[in-house]
Amino acid sequence: MNCLKCGKELQDREGSGRPRRYCGETCQKTTMMEIRRLNARIAQLEKSESLWRIKGAERWAANAAKEIERQEARLAELISAERDESADV
Ligand SMILES: [Zn+2]
Repeated sequence: MNCLKCGKELQDREGSGRPRRYCGETCQKTTMMEIRRLNARIAQLEKSESLWRIKGAERWAANAAKEIERQEARLAELISAERDESADV
C-alpha cells in the first residue's frame, strides 16, 4: 500500500486491520485541499461542457465530459480514503 497523496510506501500499522492511506498528517491535509480543488474544477468543466454543447462544439463538449469523468474518479478515490481514515480515529 502506498500513500494516496505522495505515493510513498506505507508501513503496515500494528494491531489495526485497516490499512493506512496516507504517510502522515500533511498528506491527509493536502488531500482535503485537493478534494476542494477537484470540486471547483469539476464545476468549471461542467459549465464549459454545457456552454460548448449549446454552441454546437460537440467534440469539445465530449472532451470536457471525459475530463469530468476522470476528475470524478480521482475525487471518488480520495473521498472513500477520507472516509476510511476518519472512521479509524
Ligand atoms: Zn504521503
